[in-house]
Amino acid sequence: MTAADVTWLDPDTVQLRQPKASHWEAPFLFLLFGRDRAILFDTGATSDERVFALRGAVDGAIETWLRKHPARFARPYELVVAHTHAHGDHIAGDALLAARPGTTVVGTTPAEVIAFFGFPSWPDAVVPFDLGGRVIDVIGAPGHEPSAVVYYDRATRILFTGDTVCPGNLYVRDRAQFVQTIDRLIRFRDATKPRIKTVLGAHVEMSTTPGVDYPPGTVDQPDEAPLALPPSILDEVRAALDVTGKHGAPKKRVVRDRFILVDDQR
Ligand SMILES: [Zn+2]
Repeated sequence: MTAADVTWLDPDTVQLRQPKASHWEAPFLFLLFGRDRAILFDTGATSDERVFALRGAVDGAIETWLRKHPARFARPYELVVAHTHAHGDHIAGDALLAARPGTTVVGTTPAEVIAFFGFPSWPDAVVPFDLGGRVIDVIGAPGHEPSAVVYYDRATRILFTGDTVCPGNLYVRDRAQFVQTIDRLIRFRDATKPRIKTVLGAHVEMSTTPGVDYPPGTVDQPDEAPLALPPSILDEVRAALDVTGKHGAPKKRVVRDRFILVDDQR
């Protein structure tokens, strides 16, 4: 059994990483605490607690937070399990949390995501989701996957971008939607005050050597790049999209220092 790598980014924000030893995708998950509820972004690539102890990690982090803030939280304290998108390496652990008391697991189809967050229009609306004294902006982000969303946490000023923007391979499945999503994120970034501090995706596949990635299936990444990207990365992704092929063209890879854009339309 492997335990999650747990990092407290601040007293109310936890980064969890599924270890490479349990699955080569090694996705990052995030747990954010508010007064009324916590929200978990993604559940990892494994549905077996013995392989990756997700439930134990989430319960442990929530117990730690509740113990440290006894006067601050509502009772019962809820957990919302949401996703950056519906690919298997981000939702496989849902089953491990579905039976947890006080827990709501958001569905993974576009319709379920739209209904849960209450998008008045999709994907153009930005919807606030209140954890209790802590508001998350939920931004429609299809293009890598149809139900993808990006989350902005006003408290930490972190933009959580899943696989849409991360230091790795950015797989463009629907180019038109992907372009609109990056444009939407750039508009959101430029309108947000105070400024967005950092962008955290869900994988690290790049090495510390600019433009060089670890291939899929790699289980040991001794020289991996840091997860955090600057908000200006959105401009670089937008520019790279202009280089990719149109629908029907052969697959194209656009290699940049901190990501590789892969035209992967099907
Ligand atoms: Zn992924």
